[in-house]
Amino acid sequence: MRKVSIGIDDTDSKQGMCTTYVGAVLLDRLKSLGFRLVSWPRLVRLNPNWHLKTRGNCAVCIDVKCRGSSLPVLRETALRTVEELAELGCETTNPGVVLFSSSTVPAELKRFSKTVIQDVVEIEDAERLAQRIGAEYYKFKLGRGIVGALAAIGETFQRDSTYEILAYRKAEYRGRRRVVDAESVVMMDKATFPRTFDNIDPTTGEIRITPHTPCPVLFGIRSQDPEAALEAFRMVKVDEPIERWMIYRTNQGTDAHLRYSSINTTRPFTSAILTGNVSRRPRILPGGHVVFTLSDGDGEIDCAAYEPTRRFRDAVKGLEVGDLVRVYGGVKKKEGLPLTLNLEKIEVLELKKNLLKMNPVCVVCGKRAKSEGKGKGYQCETCGRRFPSGSESYVERQRDLIPGFYEVPPRARRHLAKPLVRIRGI
Ligand code: ATP
Repeated sequence: MRKVSIGIDDTDSKQGMCTTYVGAVLLDRLKSLGFRLVSWPRLVRLNPNWHLKTRGNCAVCIDVKCRGSSLPVLRETALRTVEELAELGCETTNPGVVLFSSSTVPAELKRFSKTVIQDVVEIEDAERLAQRIGAEYYKFKLGRGIVGALAAIGETFQRDSTYEILAYRKAEYRGRRRVVDAESVVMMDKATFPRTFDNIDPTTGEIRITPHTPCPVLFGIRSQDPEAALEAFRMVKVDEPIERWMIYRTNQGTDAHLRYSSINTTRPFTSAILTGNVSRRPRILPGGHVVFTLSDGDGEIDCAAYEPTRRFRDAVKGLEVGDLVRVYGGVKKKEGLPLTLNLEKIEVLELKKNLLKMNPVCVVCGKRAKSEGKGKGYQCETCGRRFPSGSESYVERQRDLIPGFYEVPPRARRHLAKPLVRIRGI
């Protein structure tokens, strides 16, 4: 018996389907054929700035035990399932399936996976790598999905991982309004947070576990461990039959997309962690977006908090020139505009001391003396007594902002962004 990994990507369109659902159907079919899972099925989010993604840029991987003689059945079941379920009629849907038999994941494949999560690769890179490591790959139409399929096989979650339990709708319910009992979600959140997270947006009270697309997902709950996912799942009340459900291990909420970088070397379509000083104070743009400029000594970049990030913008507005901050987010370049980092979170490391100069108080009259000009000392306007330059004192002006982390609310969070609750607990 050997381990065979099956990677799948690019099966959906904006009108329907979801690669996680294809994975769930395939797994159920494989189980009924007697195949056994080797590890948790994986849901791997890829570069969130990749321009050809349909929605959340995800791919899936399933690892099963397989006898050599069963490989044709495995292959045939995987390809048939993708062919049957993928939105092949949509021009931009170009599925890819990769089968890889190996007990270990080669270093080269792990590196490829990291690149697809953080950067951009060509489909030819994926084909060459598959050939080098001896992976079988199958392209439907353009077959761009082999990039994500291979990346999903190569992601072993060495640094961090989370889980998501996904409940899927029966075909006849897809496209209809999702009826999930809000009260039950609130109770579930109370009972399981922070082992589950991002169930509710605290800024709006909005339920975040249901998508708003015509895909087969009824709801999804993100968690630290599979037990919490299952416990939470059992508490959610819905008004329609659940066709099937599945727990995936994922890189969601882990910051796997971010790379420590410097402003000069950071590139569009990637995501970065940059440290520097505020070099231009926050400006409010039409639409309520807030932008400030960051400098790290070698370069400058605009950092943006968009309107949907709501109260997060208040923290950003509180910044002043000279403040030392660390920013996290996706780098974008728009025609005619400077390079911009779309903020996912920010750590205020040091606030610039804001000292207010106080003229000396006249020892006789008790009133503040007046400055005679730069370096010329002070004079009391009432009694004429003089005070030398240097007799002034300074008080620190209080800032509204305090050092620490600030993050966008769940409603504006990217799948890969690590929520603060996972960094520091409640
Ligand atoms: P879903 O979430 O339902 O799977 P999606 O948002 O993941 O949809 P896809 O339809 O899978 O989007 O389209 C993304 C396509 O781009 C896939 O073919 C994938 O292989 C490819 N791709 C993803 N990330 C990269 C990247 N960093 N570089 C090159 N190609 C990529």
